[in-house]
Amino acid sequence: MTLPRHPPGRPAERPPERPSEDVDAVVVGGGIGGLVAGYTLVGRGLRVVLLEASDRVGGPVRGGSFAALPRVPVDLGAESFAARGTAVADLAAELGLRVVEPAPRPAWGYAAGRAFPLPAAGVLGIPSVPWARDVRRAIGWPGVARASLDRVLPRFVADTTDLGTLTRSRLGRRVAERLVAPVAAGVHSAPLDRLDVATVAPGLLEAFHLEASLSKGVESLRAAAPAGSAVRGVDGGIHALVEALAGEIAASAEEWVDSPRVDQTGPIHTAVRLRQEVVGVERADDGAWVVRTAAGGRLESARLVVTTPAVAPLVAPWVGDGTVRAPRPERGADVWLVTLLLEAPELDAAPRGSGMLVAPDEDRPSGRKGPAVRAKALTHATAKWPWLAERVRDAAGPGVHVVRLSYGRLGAETVPPTPEEAARDASALLGVDLTDRVRDHLLQRWDGALPPPTPAYRADVAAFGAAVGHTPGLAVTGGWVAGTGLAAIVAHAQATVAAL
Ligand SMILES: Cc1cc2nc3c(=O)[nH]c(=O)nc-3n(C[C@H](O)[C@H](O)[C@H](O)COP(=O)(O)OP(=O)(O)OC[C@H]3O[C@@H](n4cnc5c(N)ncnc54)[C@H](O)[C@@H]3O)c2cc1C
Repeated sequence: MTLPRHPPGRPAERPPERPSEDVDAVVVGGGIGGLVAGYTLVGRGLRVVLLEASDRVGGPVRGGSFAALPRVPVDLGAESFAARGTAVADLAAELGLRVVEPAPRPAWGYAAGRAFPLPAAGVLGIPSVPWARDVRRAIGWPGVARASLDRVLPRFVADTTDLGTLTRSRLGRRVAERLVAPVAAGVHSAPLDRLDVATVAPGLLEAFHLEASLSKGVESLRAAAPAGSAVRGVDGGIHALVEALAGEIAASAEEWVDSPRVDQTGPIHTAVRLRQEVVGVERADDGAWVVRTAAGGRLESARLVVTTPAVAPLVAPWVGDGTVRAPRPERGADVWLVTLLLEAPELDAAPRGSGMLVAPDEDRPSGRKGPAVRAKALTHATAKWPWLAERVRDAAGPGVHVVRLSYGRLGAETVPPTPEEAARDASALLGVDLTDRVRDHLLQRWDGALPPPTPAYRADVAAFGAAVGHTPGLAVTGGWVAGTGLAAIVAHAQATVAAL
């Protein structure tokens, strides 16, 4: 029997308990990070128990369907992954899924009451050629004149504190407000000045320093990126990835428990356990991790993988010398997604390409040319994903479309949108009256699921990660450390777990 030690510098708070289960690895959290970690460990022949607090795995990688079209899957959260790197595509192929490219249509921006195609050759909205036609359409000649200075300003004229100050210091305010802010708001649900550059645009700072120009840096990043679109999808929706991963783990599991089990004793094997909130982490004298759940479960394991910031404070006393601070992400925006099923043959022509990103101040009513729009982004899903267009056509006939609108900006409570409001916003953004064309709708809330990767938070993560590196048997992964998005998380989870 091994007894839990108390954390360095702290008295023992409760009498020692005997761990009732002994496994090779415990993974805390069943989002994409936890599932990839679990799948990788199971692939190494280890007995893994994955503990998920909620009643389903996948986090914001989630699917659903309209009541009117029950056989057509739609993504209710993440719907694509960044094409940089090959980790997600390789994983999808390994799981027997078909990776797809979006239709070659531009994304559009909506700023100052005007809709315009976003410059094709950019990174997070930062253009590679400041005087290109599509850039000029978005920011006008004065904007182009200021942005072009980026090619002649010396390297030291740059403030790299965050994405907003960097963009403004090199390319000026118009590029920041009209091109970069809509993309950042759409992707990260946060203003530019809250975003750490290295996290949201990997490689950009290095490319800037090399080229001595931000737009040239973007150009070199784009040249090094794989050909085709900057994002990819999966036939059947991105959520197929989560279902396949969970299926693979379950296939090697001897149990798939969807309710708390408190009576388990003796040797156990790989398992995915839902509704198992981790509430305590300790270290036994032999170095094993002791994990306790709210339902009274206790597991002992040589390896612990933490994929959620909620559990970071529980492991922090055991990390390094016990003094490192657990990173605490700021609360993310209260995001609501409305997915509309529309009877609208006018949308066959994809009037705004694959969708639109709305500049942050568009919802301020005064002094603007176009109608006020509260949505921050719109995805014309049937124009973007040919597989979806085909399935909708097969199930509902021609002229039927799926359009998704996203609401909620950082720091403000989000009033839940109604399908009527979403249809009004879609009409303004797509330039087609869609107000009485809604056949069905889906409403999904993601409250706080996208914490802003601020520079201060990233500094805490770096310090914590370094200390974790000196803590045997512990790995941390998931978006809270790897950065938002499947491309970052999948590659990080695989590499981290391999090193465990
Ligand atoms: C609306 C929306 C759209 C998005 N679109 C995209 C996109 O198109 N492309 C893209 O790449 N990314 C997208 N993202 C981001 C991406 O979905 C996330 O970065 C990613 O899913 C996070 O995965 P994760 O495993 O790190 O965290 P999570 O999925 O949050 O998983 C963490 C898990 O830990 C569990 N947990 C918490 N506390 C405990 C505890 N005490 N015990 C046990 N379990 C616990 C939680 O219930 C959760 O399931 C989107 C996000 C949102 C919200």
